[in-house]
Amino acid sequence: MNKALSLVWLRRDLRLYDHAALFSALQQQGDVQPVFVFDTDILKHFPSKHDRRLSFIAAALCNMHRELQQKGSGMLVLYGSAQELLPKLVQALQAQYVFAAEDYEPAARARDGHVAKKLQGTAQLHCVKDQVIFSPTEILRDGNAPYRVFTPYSRAWRSMLTPASSAPYDMKDNGRYADYAQLVKTADVAGIKTLRCGDEKSILAMVGYEYQPDNLWPISEARKRLSQFIKHHAKAYPQMRDMVAEDGTSRLSPYFRFGLVSVRECVAEALRSGADKWLSELIWREFYATILYHFPESVNLEWNPKYRGTLNWSHNETLFKAWCDGNTGYPMVDAAMRHLKTDGWMHNRARMVVASFLTKHLRIDWRMGEEHFAQWLMDYDMASNVGGWQWAASTGTDAQPYFRVFNPILQSKKFDPDAAYIRKYVPELSELRGDDIHAPWEQNFKLVYPKPVVDHAKARDEALAMFKAVG
Ligand SMILES: Cc1cc2nc3c(=O)[nH]c(=O)nc-3n(C[C@H](O)[C@H](O)[C@H](O)COP(=O)(O)OP(=O)(O)OC[C@H]3O[C@@H](n4cnc5c(N)ncnc54)[C@H](O)[C@@H]3O)c2cc1C
Repeated sequence: MNKALSLVWLRRDLRLYDHAALFSALQQQGDVQPVFVFDTDILKHFPSKHDRRLSFIAAALCNMHRELQQKGSGMLVLYGSAQELLPKLVQALQAQYVFAAEDYEPAARARDGHVAKKLQGTAQLHCVKDQVIFSPTEILRDGNAPYRVFTPYSRAWRSMLTPASSAPYDMKDNGRYADYAQLVKTADVAGIKTLRCGDEKSILAMVGYEYQPDNLWPISEARKRLSQFIKHHAKAYPQMRDMVAEDGTSRLSPYFRFGLVSVRECVAEALRSGADKWLSELIWREFYATILYHFPESVNLEWNPKYRGTLNWSHNETLFKAWCDGNTGYPMVDAAMRHLKTDGWMHNRARMVVASFLTKHLRIDWRMGEEHFAQWLMDYDMASNVGGWQWAASTGTDAQPYFRVFNPILQSKKFDPDAAYIRKYVPELSELRGDDIHAPWEQNFKLVYPKPVVDHAKARDEALAMFKAVG
């Protein structure tokens, strides 16, 4: 009799250690085959042939493939619509099980529902918790309603945390559960085209993209960066986390996004080292995943129903372009927006400043800003991005009150006091000294740099008026 076969369908969990779906598959008696699909239903949202996130994914896949080869296995890589291909693959290989990590985004949930339905009667799709400590349905208020405010959610999250919550899945524990020897290598599948996982360049070319080497987020750095952060930066994190020119935060977000680090390991490290403020940020990440799960409409609509269709958002393309290109005349805003296009990343404080500027000073629809970030951020995560944007626009959960509008000049002086960030990304201003660089229009400098596109005080008043009109 043939051995049972389990497929491990990898999506945003591109690592082999402390891996919930792989661990669960290895617990079955039988063979295990890891699978990745370059999903055309997702790729259609990646119009640029040079998208650095696809290069990151390709590098992570090839890295996993090499690790798997050392264990006598390898990745099975497919190209097409995952929700169509997966059931075909299951049938062709006569697999009994498919294990995958739970995904809480609306489109991913619909896709998984579709696959589960198609598999009915032949195999089972098991989605297991992996990217969070507590899934969106685990932390609920009395009466099983989701939390709507971060502080009580965070309190509940912390009170539920036990050592077991962040215990790793020990993949080497072959005495009791997992055994890498079960991993197999399926070379060809009748009727389904598989892609050879040679190197990142060739595999990306096969799906129509160009590989861009990226030395900002090397694949091999993920866990090293975690340990370096815990060792050297975690202690000063509460003081340094807002300083935009400093290396005060972990810069782990792209690794979180694609699952190259395990959240269990990060939480365990935060607890061990007393990095409580940092732990709090990891809880924000789960809070926003929970909000997106329970309020999927917040992707397109203001989370607070009071503001749906009532705020008079602008769609001014000229001002929007000035913001996207970093040409607003406000140095901190422009530095941050240029940073985004250069590195595909932006510091959290800078994200707050530019999002506030777009939605309050320019009164431009937060959805346009959210979409721009979605296009450029290496760490783009729908839950955190929509959550962050709605926070800045004062339309979301725990939103900043609408009457508190960030002053981009004060933010600049406070969080980039030496203007190192501005000098790096806005070289036109690099000769200015002292406070001049934070508000260059105040002196009569001859600069090849735009004048402010709006006046701060006037823009602030107009933003307040827009919200007041709703009542
Ligand atoms: C308008 C706006 C848009 C944002 N869009 C995204 C996004 O698309 N993807 C994304 O991962 N984060 C987003 N954030 C949150 C935050 O800016 C980034 O997570 C953070 O800057 C990543 O840097 P880091 O890894 O050095 O963070 P650290 O400060 O080291 O924090 C560690 C991890 O905690 C999580 N985290 C930290 N802050 C937040 C937060 N405010 N909300 C949710 N999770 C958080 C991230 O996973 C981060 O990697 C957004 C924030 C704003 C204001």
